[in-house]
Amino acid sequence: MSTATQPAYKIVHHEYDVVVVGAGGAGLRATVGLAQSGLKTANITKVFPTRSHTVAAQGGISAALGNMGADDWRWHMYDTIKGSDWLGDQDAIQYMVREALPAIIELEHWGVPFSRTPEGKIYQRPFGGMTTNFGGPPAQRTCAAADRTGHAMLHTMYQQALKARAEFFIEYFALDLLTDADGSIHGVLALDQSTGELHRFRAHQVILATGGYGRAYFSATSAHTCTGDGGGMAIRAGIPLQDMEFVQFHPTGIYGSGCLITEGSRGEGGYLTNSNGERFMERYAPNAKDLASRDVVSRSMTIEIREGRGVGPEKDHIHLNLQHLGPEVLHKRLPGISETAKIFANVDVTKEPIPVLPTVHYNMGGIPCNFHGEVVTCTDGKTDTVIPGLMAVGEAACVSVHGANRLGSNSLLDLVVFGRAAGLRCADTLKAGQKHKTLPKESEEKALARLDHLRYAKGATPTSKIRLAMQKTMQQHAAVFRTTKSLDEGMVKLKDDIKLFDDVHVSDHSLVWNSDLIETLELDNLLGQALLTMAGAQNRKESRGAHAHEDFPERDDQHWMKHTLAWRTADTEVKIDYRPVHLYTLDTDADVVPPKKRTY
Ligand SMILES: Cc1cc2nc3c(=O)[nH]c(=O)nc-3n(C[C@H](O)[C@H](O)[C@H](O)COP(=O)(O)OP(=O)(O)OC[C@H]3O[C@@H](n4cnc5c(N)ncnc54)[C@H](O)[C@@H]3O)c2cc1C
Repeated sequence: MSTATQPAYKIVHHEYDVVVVGAGGAGLRATVGLAQSGLKTANITKVFPTRSHTVAAQGGISAALGNMGADDWRWHMYDTIKGSDWLGDQDAIQYMVREALPAIIELEHWGVPFSRTPEGKIYQRPFGGMTTNFGGPPAQRTCAAADRTGHAMLHTMYQQALKARAEFFIEYFALDLLTDADGSIHGVLALDQSTGELHRFRAHQVILATGGYGRAYFSATSAHTCTGDGGGMAIRAGIPLQDMEFVQFHPTGIYGSGCLITEGSRGEGGYLTNSNGERFMERYAPNAKDLASRDVVSRSMTIEIREGRGVGPEKDHIHLNLQHLGPEVLHKRLPGISETAKIFANVDVTKEPIPVLPTVHYNMGGIPCNFHGEVVTCTDGKTDTVIPGLMAVGEAACVSVHGANRLGSNSLLDLVVFGRAAGLRCADTLKAGQKHKTLPKESEEKALARLDHLRYAKGATPTSKIRLAMQKTMQQHAAVFRTTKSLDEGMVKLKDDIKLFDDVHVSDHSLVWNSDLIETLELDNLLGQALLTMAGAQNRKESRGAHAHEDFPERDDQHWMKHTLAWRTADTEVKIDYRPVHLYTLDTDADVVPPKKRTY
């Protein structure tokens, strides 16, 4: 990397108590709490807050409110642990499902326009893997604002953040963390895309709320902005990422476009059929059927297609039937997806089934942290060490409450519960207006050198070509089913894709609205996460949750009930270590759920 010939950057300096990067559900919830507690808070976001991917969340947010039948947060805890295939940390899960109740009521009071029952309570629908009585009949636990729940939440929380006088830096792209020599974090360097100015934000805590990295894959329900920039920044700061091999495929992405049809559609009574018109989920999950956990449904669909029972001329997808629900239910409960199906599949859901295919949807893995949101690492296989100055929340983080497989509607919950927890932790540990220590010059030099290097990159390969190669590699080799052979071949291809990045070509070196440069910075972040995903999958010799390894088809608790920690030690090199799964609860309010075989 050469910086010698380029002019020095003029940098605008800011000082805050806390800086949140990301204004999706997680970042906004953290921001509201921080601003309300009197801490001077900045929120930096590359897109306008209400355009964050959370806006696309359809189905809803889980909480054992019991508005539509008996419910108990302990049942929710059991379901989440079972859904996680016993990789989730049980203390964190207990915290999430118990705090769900006040967190949802708070959202209601802030003004989220939830759908209502005839008595005026929050409407709740069934969702995959959510049961009553520790695995009994389905629970109605998922609170919904029709099929636009994320949209409703995001708008409400943005208004609350403005009311609490949080300061927003909108369309600022965060480049890298500011680190001290001891690895502690002291701020973030960001680019104002509208002026091309660089901004240096000092903070006592940086909270990464940058969302998932679904765009490492070719077909994903995630927005194009889901490029895992927080994970990329963490990797470059020498921080490991956790459980990256666990990538969720949602059963019902629209065939061709990948747009999501919410699981809420099956919650409302929709079902899947193969080319024989058979409701095949009855064979794979006799009790839960179409509402089994997502990994189970996605695998079943893949097997049906593999065995020649797919629908369509190429027998390569499955049908989702909603016709029988009738126009009234569809209009009232699922208006958004009726429109999506019309636009993206030219299907009238009142008359014909929707063509669907398992599509990448969510990253269970991410930046390792505890249930306060503090980022942790572990180098002796036993004890966590907190990395001073850094927190992570939302899909960017791995708390880990979702373990090897997330249950639908538990992510929106994760955002608000842990966004809130991070704010509370900062209010407990920081005093407003504390002085910032002087940082060595090197703290930002590396970040500036990287920016320079990519900005003036004059190789021969366009960013889009490298991105497509990576996306195809991931889609083909780190898919619903994996084998040693597919993963080994995938790793060879991925390393080639990464090497190709040395030859990247950025057409224009302007810093103002330069989408080529921004996409290149994002690709850099994606490549690191793709590498750790493939490496984690290659390393884990068992099948658990979303990681279905055909050469090791069983879960192996004796050797593999542990979290993967993966460091990127050089461009194409990865170091792997482990962190114990928390098989304990917070207190006597709930018992540990011991591992058993997972059937639905
Ligand atoms: C189509 C779809 C439907 C879903 N439906 C549901 C559902 O019904 N229920 C459920 O529980 N879950 C659902 N999920 C999952 C859930 O919505 C996501 O996991 C969640 O919204 C992620 O929220 P987040 O706050 O972590 O990140 P996001 O909402 O993705 O926000 C990320 C934020 O980070 C900012 N950012 C990123 N990089 C940078 C950078 N370099 N500099 C500055 N800012 C940056 C962005 O501007 C954005 O504000 C759905 C997901 C999808 C894709």
